[in-house]
Amino acid sequence: MDKPLTQNIKPDLSAVTLDDYRHTGGYEGLTKALKEMAPADVIEAVKNSGLRGRGGAGFPTGVKWSLVPQGESAGQKYVVVNADEMEPGTFKDRLLMEADPHQLIEGIAIAAYAVQSDTAYIFLRGEYHLSARRLEQALAEARSAGYLGKNILGSGFDLEIHLHTSAGRYICGEETALLNSLEGKRAIPRAKPPYPQTSGLWGCPTVVNNVETLCNVPHIIRNGVDWYRGLGRGEDAGTKLFGVSGRVKKPGLWELPMGTPVRVLIEECAGGMQDGYTLRGFLPGGASTDFLLPEHLDVPMDFGAMMKAGSRLGTGTMIVLDDRTCPVQMVLNLERFFAQESCGWCTPCRDGLPWVVELLESLVAGRGRPEDLDLLEQLARLMGPGNTFCALAPGAAEPLQSALKHFRADFERYLKPASSARVA
Ligand code: NAD
Repeated sequence: MDKPLTQNIKPDLSAVTLDDYRHTGGYEGLTKALKEMAPADVIEAVKNSGLRGRGGAGFPTGVKWSLVPQGESAGQKYVVVNADEMEPGTFKDRLLMEADPHQLIEGIAIAAYAVQSDTAYIFLRGEYHLSARRLEQALAEARSAGYLGKNILGSGFDLEIHLHTSAGRYICGEETALLNSLEGKRAIPRAKPPYPQTSGLWGCPTVVNNVETLCNVPHIIRNGVDWYRGLGRGEDAGTKLFGVSGRVKKPGLWELPMGTPVRVLIEECAGGMQDGYTLRGFLPGGASTDFLLPEHLDVPMDFGAMMKAGSRLGTGTMIVLDDRTCPVQMVLNLERFFAQESCGWCTPCRDGLPWVVELLESLVAGRGRPEDLDLLEQLARLMGPGNTFCALAPGAAEPLQSALKHFRADFERYLKPASSARVA
């Protein structure tokens, strides 16, 4: 946050140490919260800051915290960090944990103080070995410096943070499947409501927040609500990590103000398309979002503006489609991932996704029937919101339905003799 906003964030070989972190104001937010603010003031500040969840859905963070029951009768409460980053094309939380683990620890401590929880869990993607090592080391440093443990900074507030590494399934990133997994059960989503804020880990009130969301919190408390709101260029407050992958000159990750136009990210930060390639479209926030087109390059990267444009901001890490990659094969690749990662709990997802894969595979093999395109559209609708337990299948439907809408001719080409089909 204190670095130039358009810097390309690349992890160097070492993480920010506790000393470095403190030199740039690290743990001042926690100190301020514990010494000068009541828990309700912290919740109010985060609410007023306009911070929206950075995991993909954009739910207001302060509102989420305010839904946790307060007072003695609320009993045991938990904070759970969703660090199971597995959305295709998404690599922002990994860099935050590898490069600046204390920022996350401070964010967790402030969140735990706000909802009065003495126990937090970081649910970390199993393959994130370097993040795990750096978090373990930072947790040990924070404990010895008195930022974790009993009576933190003499405030009477206690907190222990446990690191739990996932066994490695995409569904574990769905917050209620994550809670089941943490409890040692099969990772299947729970029906919502009740939301975790009232009935979460072992049935206790639980705040589940994404890594990047919590990394914003120390800065909000330290620098104030007005400062944070002023960082945004559009409807939403603050900054966010935005990434680009695909045939651009400089794939990477940048911290930019919310509301920055997509064009700045793709053309300025990522250097535009590689020579010989033209932009055909992009998935704005990981794979489970709708394709947008070059005509959308001036859309601000805000939750609302992306929705109006016909997609979602999602994780804010864009996957770029170029003119030499076949959108049908790109979608097939994504749908194979989603079908493999379905937990099998509800029918539209368990049966719908393999059926989509089968139809796409037969299409690209030259065995597609004209009615298959309508069938794919119908399946995308049936897997949509409201028909499934969680967002996995509706998310998988988004690239499919939007590809059918924007790139229909590419699908139809596979219905013609094999010689005219596009090849990825
Ligand atoms: P959701 O909209 O159901 O919920 C988002 C958050 O808001 C949750 O924490 C939920 O508890 C809370 N919430 C929503 N409505 C609420 C209400 N009425 N009362 C109280 N709390 C409420 O979305 P989701 O299913 O949790 O997540 C879907 C998103 O996850 C998608 O946008 C997708 O882009 C993203 N995603 C991210 C990754 C990743 O690796 N970061 C992976 C897969 C999906």
